[in-house]
Formats: sequence, structure tokens, C-alpha cells
Amino acid sequence: MERTDSEKASPELIEGLERVFRNNAGLAKSLVRYIGKFYEKLEKDFGSFKIMDFCGTHEWTITHYGLRSLMPKGLELVAGPGCPVCVTPSYYIENALKLSFDGVVVYTYGDVFRLLSLKRVKGASSLAEAKALGADVRIVTGIADAIADAKAHGKESIFLGIGFETVASGYAQVLISGLLPENLKLMSLVKLTPPAMLATVEILAKEKSAVRGIIAPGHVSTIIGAKAWKPVADKLKIPVVVTGFEPIDVLIAIAEVLKQLVRGEAKVSIEYARAVSWDGDIKAQEMIERAFRVVKDAWRGIGFLPNSGLRISESYSSHDAFREYDIEETVPESYQDDLPKGCRCAEIVIGKEKPTGCPLFMRKCKPSSPVGPCMVSLEGTCAIWARFGADGLADQIAEDLDLR
Ligand code: SF4
Repeated sequence: MERTDSEKASPELIEGLERVFRNNAGLAKSLVRYIGKFYEKLEKDFGSFKIMDFCGTHEWTITHYGLRSLMPKGLELVAGPGCPVCVTPSYYIENALKLSFDGVVVYTYGDVFRLLSLKRVKGASSLAEAKALGADVRIVTGIADAIADAKAHGKESIFLGIGFETVASGYAQVLISGLLPENLKLMSLVKLTPPAMLATVEILAKEKSAVRGIIAPGHVSTIIGAKAWKPVADKLKIPVVVTGFEPIDVLIAIAEVLKQLVRGEAKVSIEYARAVSWDGDIKAQEMIERAFRVVKDAWRGIGFLPNSGLRISESYSSHDAFREYDIEETVPESYQDDLPKGCRCAEIVIGKEKPTGCPLFMRKCKPSSPVGPCMVSLEGTCAIWARFGADGLADQIAEDLDLR
């Protein structure tokens, strides 16, 4: 949707935000000192521990700006399942491949285009390969592009709706407003993040170095509101901080997590108040509730999680690709760890392992030739580390600046 002039951020505002949240070495140094002091108070009781981010863009900020190198030894920043492409089971890509070879036009985002399926379908193990073999697969930047294009050609088509709550409201809007043409069906593979956050931290609780704080996703929270994380903070008894995407945002969030831990608190805080409210976007939440039903869903590398996926509700089922093409859902009884041999994405998406712990990282598996799902999307942890984080440069810079 085009923004009106009054809704657009002025150049002065953008410049001001960058000055405060990006180009602010003085504040960064103070925050790093606070983080160090808070950690010193916690080290005796907790030993080493983790703070987990749940958004590929936060992981990008942490890695791109070298924030790990500024942390005290013993405080580890790890990435959780914050990349929807990484956790979409191969099974659904295989079904999209089948449809593409049956003559259905498949609309997809650019990263999903390169996502590898475990099984080959008619010689293809990705939509990119299917396209090379003659299938009609089209990359779009959103469902609006797919609608316009499908209306123009009139052929049977599907849109692969992969994403988190952030995209769900857009899909809900087109369903409720009747914007989808008859020939375009939506395959909703939307995943819900709070159940994954709960499950991941609980899995890691059994590890030596537990997760003691969470950097909650900013984009998702604009829709679901910070309140959505309260059950997580209450159940896990750890601080959850909703944060923006500039380096200062993330440092403030880490300091806030540690401050709460020092005080023995476990609250949900909003650092990203310039975009996120406690209640979120109520209208969007109502639309999502109306257009979708919540299902137990499969997360690639993790398995089935209760109440963690969205499928189109009965009222809008005439637009549902699952119904139109008799695609059966994968079920827990037959679902298996669907990762290629040697790929350690199952541990990487829950923050148990680092990309550098995978023997294929930057050897057989690179951004230009991904093997596993975490190397495909710009939000995948392996892809982010491959591009920005694996060469130790940030450590060197931090040491040179005496920031450690
Ligand atoms: Fe999987 Fe590649 Fe990451 Fe290894 S480097 S975990 S193969 S995506």
C-alpha cells in the first residue's frame, strides 16, 4: 500500500534515528560497559548463559555489526528459529514442485525459489530447478504482485504463503476483501512465533548453558503486540525484550535483559516503542483470526509444535490451495527430520549449535550453493554468518578498540 506524504518518515527523522540508533559510538560504549557490569554480578550465580534472538534481522544486526565480539566471555548471543524459510518442511516444497510440473503457475518469494527439497520431483529439488526444466515458477515480492499477474494471464496458479505473523495480516486482508482471483489459490504455510519460542527455550533448558533472556522480534510484535510474549516470560521466568533492528537497539535490549536478571525480574519490556505497542495491531489480529484457523504445525528441524501454524479457515476455503489440489497435510506419525545428510540446521535453528560447528559450512554449503535450509534465505543463520560473521574480523576490531 502506498504511504501518504504525512505517513512517510522525513529525511530529518531518518537521519535523527540513524544518529541515535546506528552511528552512536558514545552510547554503544556506555551500553557495553553496563552489559559488562551487569554480567559480572550474574556470573557467580549463573555461570555462562545465552540470550536468544528470534528474528533473522536481529541475527543480521548482531552478526553484521560484530556485537558478539563486544559481549563478556560467558555471555553468548544465539539465534533461534527466526527464519520462516528455514523451518518450512521439505514436504510442502515437494508439493509445490509437483503442481508446477502439472502446469500450475507457482508464485514464490526469491529465497523460497532456491529452497531445496529433500526428495527430487521430476528431476528438480527446488523451484529454481523446476523453472529451469520448463515449469512456470514466478518470483514476486508479495501477494499483490501475484494477484495482478494471475488476473492478467488467467491460468491456474498458487501463491506459496511462507512467513510469520507479519505477512499473515496481508494474506488475511486479501482473503477477507475478496481480492484473490478465482484462478489463484493461497497455500498458507504461515507459522506463529510464540509457541516456537517456548519450545526452543525449553529444549535448551536441558543444556549446560541455558537461555536466560530473549530478544523478541520487532516486526512480528508490531502485529501481535508485546502482550503476546507475556505467557513466555511468565512460564519460562526469563526477561523478554521487544527490540528494534539497529545495533544500539540490540545493545539496549541485552542490557535490559541483564538488568532484569540482576533484579530477579522476568518481564516483557518494549525497547522498540517507536513501532511496537503492548496490544499490537488489533485490526490485523482480528483479520488473522477471521481468515485463518490455528493448527499444530511442523517446523523443519524441530518437529510438530502445538498451535504454531495458520491454515485458511472454512469460510474462505474456496481460496485454499490445500483443498483445491487435495494436498494432504504432513502428520506427526510420518514426519521425520527432513534435512539433508550432514546438515546441522536442526541444532542451529534452536541455538544449540553455531553454523561454524557444521562440517559443511563454507565448504560444501555456501550462499551460492546451499545444501541446507539455513543457508538459503538472507534471514537464515548460516547465510548470515557466511556473509558477515565467520572471519573473526569483528573480534579483531573490538580488541583494537579495547571494547572487550
Ligand atoms: Fe545446513 Fe549448510 Fe548450515 Fe551446514 S552450513 S547447517 S549444511 S545450512
